[in-house]
Amino acid sequence: MVSMCTAQYRVDGLGARIVLLPARCVPGEHVLAASGYTATLTAEGVLCVACSACTTSDVDGRWLLATTGEASRAEFSATAYPNTTSTR
Ligand SMILES: [Zn+2]
Repeated sequence: MVSMCTAQYRVDGLGARIVLLPARCVPGEHVLAASGYTATLTAEGVLCVACSACTTSDVDGRWLLATTGEASRAEFSATAYPNTTSTR
């Protein structure tokens, strides 16, 4: 299960553009900050966020986020993407 979304951004109080990463993997089973993840930006500008816990099972917990420009840093968001508000 691969979920392709457009990357969401916010601008902080200092004007820095921040890309928002989903707080949970695609199945919603794991909190990425706790279970571990890898984030890779492809040459096509797609940010691939892979759940470390899911890659050890048969579930594909990757998010594919189509970026729309540079960001100075990244942070997790529980609300920017679908499926990330699960309480499981
Ligand atoms: Zn996962």
